[in-house]
This record gives sequence, structure tokens and C-alpha cells, in this order.
Amino acid sequence: MGAFTMADVGLGGRNADCFDPDVETLAREPLAALQLERLRITLRNAYDNVPLYRRRLADADFAPEDLRTLDDVRRLPFSAKSDLRDHYPFGLFARPVEALARLHASSGTTGKPTVVGYTKRDLATWADLMARSLYCGGARRGDVIHNAYGYGLFTGGLGAHYGIERLGAVAVPMSGGSTERQVALIVDFGARVLCATPSYALAIAEVAEGLGVDLRASGLRIGMFGAEPWSEAMRREIEARLGVQAIDNYGLSEIMGPGVAVECVCQDGLHGWEDHFLFEVVDPETLQPVTEGAPGELVITTLTKQALPMLRYRTRDVTRITTAPCACGRTHLRILRVAGRTDDMLIVRGVNVYPSQVEAVLVGRPGIAPHYQMVVDRRASLDHVHVEVEAEVGVPVDRFATIAQDVAHHIKSMIGITTEVVVKAPGEIPRSQGKAVRVRDLRPQGA
Ligand SMILES: [Zn+2]
Repeated sequence: MGAFTMADVGLGGRNADCFDPDVETLAREPLAALQLERLRITLRNAYDNVPLYRRRLADADFAPEDLRTLDDVRRLPFSAKSDLRDHYPFGLFARPVEALARLHASSGTTGKPTVVGYTKRDLATWADLMARSLYCGGARRGDVIHNAYGYGLFTGGLGAHYGIERLGAVAVPMSGGSTERQVALIVDFGARVLCATPSYALAIAEVAEGLGVDLRASGLRIGMFGAEPWSEAMRREIEARLGVQAIDNYGLSEIMGPGVAVECVCQDGLHGWEDHFLFEVVDPETLQPVTEGAPGELVITTLTKQALPMLRYRTRDVTRITTAPCACGRTHLRILRVAGRTDDMLIVRGVNVYPSQVEAVLVGRPGIAPHYQMVVDRRASLDHVHVEVEAEVGVPVDRFATIAQDVAHHIKSMIGITTEVVVKAPGEIPRSQGKAVRVRDLRPQGA
């Protein structure tokens, strides 16, 4: 908080119901001043302790003392996931490994895993921000919070866990899998909040329905869902089937883990915690900033991380941001729900398509269940998209062909791509136990 006092707090936010009201309702001007002060420290940390950053800053002819205004961030070099991979395992760390308190790593499905490290203070910050995020979504001290994010090297499980404890709530460290047991414990322990990926939340709903358990009649009221892009249609589906308010939350391991941004109960964009992160949106082609509200790639600079400062990290997530005031009273900017990742974006015969767009067409359509997978391949040098969907339980097989035609028609009219839709029997599409795999791209690489 530095030199700022309550006198700097914006009038609109005084009555806001927040975990950390002084910070969460700080007026935009002192918030920017706080960011500049922290960016200066971050830049110094990166320059002094990470050879890659020192080299890149020198190449950009920029020394830490050249930072005058927040806009100067645009002169800093970008960083990307490949930097972490190329300097595996600890090359981007600004602290020696013996000074750290924890390591996490990505699954490394393609190439080397990306490894992230935290000092004790980094872990305390993370717990604070996750507690703030849970509170922002409606969780309170004393709530039983069922945490179905995977525990282990993935940041989801432990990230949420320590936030739950920091909030003063009761953590149920369930992790993923054993879905029938999840259903039983949600009911028996009286969980009020469920933390999970949206696709796994749906799997829990489905298993509960199969067991004849109505989770809408349980104590469950709030879902904190994140770690994968999901559509508004999927949100409504999950809310209806679990009887919760489904709150979107956003984070990524390279930046911290869960707790970077979260929706408030207004569900009108995710508040990005600007006292710890600097958010930009850039055109992914030109890398120039877009005007506020225009879509582009989200770029994040950490402002308080000790072990792993990230300068202008390219998230690959496509979104828009707004600094317009939110009805909840918080002043931190809002990220208008992530539409998809540039990594997942399919360019099908020249049309840009995100799986979430296809999802929005599928969810709620009569006769089909909200489980799907897209398979893209190339035939006779043309991209060919297969959309595999699943019939709802009880739909007769002789209706599958008609349903498939109907779905293909709606995808064509709403997204503009021609697809071959295959309707499968209930249960045939693999269920997510964590992050859902929505696209299988079988096209030759580099073609
Ligand atoms: Zn809000």
C-alpha cells in the first residue's frame, strides 16, 4: 500500500463488500502510482537477477532507471512460455533455488515442462490473492469449500487450497477423479462452494444425476470455475444443473496460478488484481496495444513476484478489458471473459474458430448433451472439421442423423464453417477429470 491512505480511496467503493476493501476499491490514480512503484522494483529485480531479461533489456536499449511512466512498459521486451522451456528448469528465476519455498510445473505434453518457483513471500501473496478472489465470488469465512482442482504439480489444487485456508474457510482437499465419491462428500460435508474446471463440474453434475442425487437440493451455492475457456451457454447449463452461481476465475501458472482475476457476483467481467499485475491487451500480429475494449491478446507483467518476475508475458488468451466502474464497487479493471486461446484457435478454410464458439452453439440444443470434441484434419488439401457430440439419454438412435443435420446447420449459420457432425451415444465422449481436451488437430504440422 505504500504511502496511500484511506483518503485516496475512491468514493464509490467505500461501502464495497471486499476481502481487502482498501486495496480493492483504491481509486484508479493511486492504483496506477502503486503499479509504477512496484513495476520499478520488479524491473530492477529482473534486470539484476535474470541474465535473459538483462540481455533483452540491453537489446531494447532500456535500463531500469529509464522507467518514468506506466506507459513505458510498452518499451519492455515481451516474454513467452517458450522462454521458460528454453531455460528449463530454473533459468528465469530471480532467486537461487535454495531460497525458494515451492516449485510447480506444467504437465509438459509438448516438449519440456515449464517450471515455476515461489519464495515464502510469493506463496503468502498467492494465498492472499486467492482468498480475495474466493471472497469476490461470494465465498465467506466458515464455508466448506470442496476443492476438485487437481493437487500436485498443477497450480490449481494447492493454489486454491491455501486461498481457502487464508480466507478462513474450510478446505476439502478432494483433487480430481473419484467422481461418485465427490458427489457423496459434497452432500455429506455440506459444501457451499465447489472449485473445479467447468468441464469437470459438468461431469460431477452428470454423475450426481446418474446416482439420483439432486445437488440443487444440497448446500452448494457457488461454483468457482476456471483453468479452461468456457462459454456463457456452458455457464447457464452448469448453473441450472448444480444449482450454483458459476463464477469464472482466471490464472496461469507462469504468472502465479489461480487468483490472477475473478468475477464478482455481478458476473460482468473478471476483476484483474492490478496491485499485483499489470494488464495490457495487444494485437497478436503487430504486438501494438489495442484501444480499451478492443479484442486482443492479454499480456501480463507481474508487479510483486520475487522468484519469477515475468515481464510482458504473452498469455495467448484472447480477450478485451475495461476500466469502467463495476456495480460491486471494486475499481480494478475487468477482463471480459476469455473467448479462447490463440493456441486453440483453428483457422478453418480462412475462418478463425474457437472451440468456445462451437460450444455456445451446442449447449442447450435439443437432443444433445453438452459434451463435445472437435477433430480437424486435412483431406485433399482442404481442412475438414468433425464435431463429435453426444445424444441426451433417452434419445432414440434413429433420430441421431436428424440431430446431426440440425447441429451442422446451426454451426454453419452462426460461425460460418461447414462441419461434419457425428452424434454419439450417451457416455461415448471422454469425460474431463481436469482440463478438457476440446480439439484434436490431426493436420500435418507446419502445413
Ligand atoms: Zn465487480
